Amino acid sequence: MRNVKIKQLSENVEATSNAPKQDVLLEVRNLKKYFVVGKTFFGKPTKYLKAVDNVSFALKKGKTLGIVGESGCGKTTMGRTILRLYDVTGGEVWFDGKEVSKIPEREFDKLRPNMQMIFQDPYASLSPRLTVGAIIGEAALQHGLVDKEHYREYVLSVMKMCGLQPHYFDRYPHEFSGGQRQRICIARALALKPDLVVCDEPVSALDVSIQAQIINMLRELQKELGLTYVFISHDLSVVKHISDEVGVMYLGSMVEYGTKERIFNNTLHPYTQALFSAVPVPNPHVKMNRVILRGDIPSPVNPPKGCKFHTRCDKCMEVCKCVPPQYKEVEEGHFCACHLYATEEERADMLAKYTAERENHVEEK
Ligand code: SF4
Repeated sequence: MRNVKIKQLSENVEATSNAPKQDVLLEVRNLKKYFVVGKTFFGKPTKYLKAVDNVSFALKKGKTLGIVGESGCGKTTMGRTILRLYDVTGGEVWFDGKEVSKIPEREFDKLRPNMQMIFQDPYASLSPRLTVGAIIGEAALQHGLVDKEHYREYVLSVMKMCGLQPHYFDRYPHEFSGGQRQRICIARALALKPDLVVCDEPVSALDVSIQAQIINMLRELQKELGLTYVFISHDLSVVKHISDEVGVMYLGSMVEYGTKERIFNNTLHPYTQALFSAVPVPNPHVKMNRVILRGDIPSPVNPPKGCKFHTRCDKCMEVCKCVPPQYKEVEEGHFCACHLYATEEERADMLAKYTAERENHVEEK
């Protein structure tokens, strides 16, 4: 077993007192988003879909956090919950030193321009009835970021920044290709002068050549405007290209988190290892050691007991089937939720505790 220094993330969270460090723009602590999927006759919830379950991370200003995982792992729900497009079930979201998950809606509305989202589908996310100029500038006008006198000039400057021609101002979205529409979506978000942009699969609906243009534009805009991104994607090569930090999600939980270098050069979690093994290598002489995951992703309404990944993991041990692994700092800044990084004694302890609790429970019954 590797000699690793193990610390719990919760200890870290407590040690930082309440407010996040100064250079941290977004901090998420034990975030939960549950949807009710079953109720009694009297409306009491009986079943939940745990779309986001105890997710924690801290993102510094001007950096990009890439979130990866299979479809249905809770990436998009997490992004939307951070921006309060969904109500928070539990946990905290700190933005620019303020706890924003529980403040009244009216107060949060003032912060909304600072936290923007770019959606996956550039076809569905633009109103067909508004001109490009109105789509980009309307919210900026409503939030008082520009007055009527300077409106056109301001919108044109944002359009220029996003590679849109000035004569597009009076045109409608249906006249544009997917790439141009995504540029309009990006311009709409940036017109509000945000600090944080959650990019939800912003290039997955586009051709590969257009994807590269949009990704490069996002990187240039980040440098120019000092933006912070949460970049949600299932495409690992895109995430590797754009991210500073990477978080890997499985069935609503963060299973691994760290800097891009640590995650890609020293992958710890068996799920991340399987994901990374599927990335094609552009060299015909390199043999790929593909790890094939058994079965389908389980239902988040009824996730497996213990480690949620144990039904598909080829390193599964006895303890994995009954005790959920702790999310721990395995090496500096590199967190992982897996029993492989606990010592043998710790695993035996957990198993003994679980067996004792179960026996007590049976006796009580
Ligand atoms: Fe596999 Fe066990 Fe680690 Fe889960 S805790 S990923 S089942 S080794």
